[in-house]
This record gives sequence, structure tokens and C-alpha cells, in this order.
Amino acid sequence: MDEDDREEIKTLRSLLGANAIIKLKDVPTEVIQSAILNSVQLCVEKWPFMKGVIQLGITRIDSQEGDRTTKATYDPETKIISLNIEQFSNIEKLEKLIKKYDEENLIPSGTGDVSSIMTHELGHVLSKVLEEQGIFVLNIISSATHQVFSLNFNELTDIELVSFARENASRLTGQRTREIIEIFYYRFSESSFFNNRTFEQHNEFLTAISEEIFAETVREYLHSNTPGEFSAVIGKYIENYFKET
Ligand SMILES: [Zn+2]
Repeated sequence: MDEDDREEIKTLRSLLGANAIIKLKDVPTEVIQSAILNSVQLCVEKWPFMKGVIQLGITRIDSQEGDRTTKATYDPETKIISLNIEQFSNIEKLEKLIKKYDEENLIPSGTGDVSSIMTHELGHVLSKVLEEQGIFVLNIISSATHQVFSLNFNELTDIELVSFARENASRLTGQRTREIIEIFYYRFSESSFFNNRTFEQHNEFLTAISEEIFAETVREYLHSNTPGEFSAVIGKYIENYFKET
């Protein structure tokens, strides 16, 4: 039996279905209410197909591992979303920070509430679900870039991709997309990746980038009242796909 019978966990269970695995033992009530519940609610209301697939194993990020400023992560192997409880413990402060990110166009416009951090991670969950069905987000991003910008994401060289994202970040999903791409760019370039990369490494690079862009589009599509053209194309694609399957 689940020992955690807090009210908000019962609400989550009613949203996600009786069989959903929900492990939130170390997560404070306040965080569940302000960050998790709103995001899950938004997600399953708009995309009921997510009801059967969201498993919430939420743990705290150990500050020693990784960046202290990281707010949340998703592990596709264990399917567990981790929240940095240190960051989430002061919701008011975090709320202010996310609002500021929104004003500065670091995150997609209209997504300046803490629960959108969680929705970004749910975007990764969805990406994994699609992958298990043989649909790769790299291809989704590629076809959306083609449709909106008349560019084929798959065929861009890494350098072209970075300059494209730089120029178009605000029309993609906010400046953070540009930063993410640059972080990957430098991470990969450190290992002399750009001098001597294999096809697999090249694909790994594009996949990593497209997954982050995809998670940001999900965040924008679900939270913003007026999602941009790029996110809207991807959101509609997802809806149509699950309507047909
Ligand atoms: Zn991410």
C-alpha cells in the first residue's frame, strides 16, 4: 500500500489514473501544489493520452551531482523526474525568477510560472513515449522547422544549426533554446567532436538539441495562451498523432 496518503497525492492519482506510479515521498506539499499539480492538470486536460503514460517518480537532485542551479531533470532510463528541492523550497523566490526569465525572453513567452518547469520535464516524458512508438523528436523538429522556416533541421551542419538558432531563438521557443544549443555545442566541441565526429556522434548531437527544443515547445504549447507558430505546429502534430492511434 502507498503510505503517502496526502490530499494532493490523491488528487494526482485521480488525474493520472489508479495504476499510475506516484512516488513523491520527499517532495514537500507546497511544491506539489504549486509546481506539480498545475502542470499535470494542464497536461492531462489538454492531452488525455498522457494520462496513461505519466509516472511520477520525483526525487530530489543531490546538489553535489551536477549544477546547483539546475531546477529539474528527467532520466529516460528510470523514467524519473527529479526536482531540485533546494531551488523549489523557496517557491516565492523561484516564482520571481521564472517571471524574470519570461520577461527577458529566456523561456517561451507566457510560461513564467514555476509549474512550467515541470511541464518541460513532461515534454521529455512525451518524447520518450513517442520514441518507444518509433517517432523521433528530431524528425518532428525537422519537419516543423521546414514548415515554419523552410529549413531542414536534419540537414543543417552543426555550425549552421547554432547560427540558425541564434537568429531565430525568439521565434523558436525563447532565448533559452539558443543557450541550450550553445551549451551542447561547447560540450561536444570540447571532445574534439567537431574535428573528427562520426555519423552517430553527429546524430547524438542533433537528438540532444532537438529533445530540449521539443520540451520547450511542449512547455509553450501547454502554458502559453498564444503559443508561437513553431510550438503550435508541433502541438497540433502531437494531437493529430494521438487522435489517429
Ligand atoms: Zn530539458
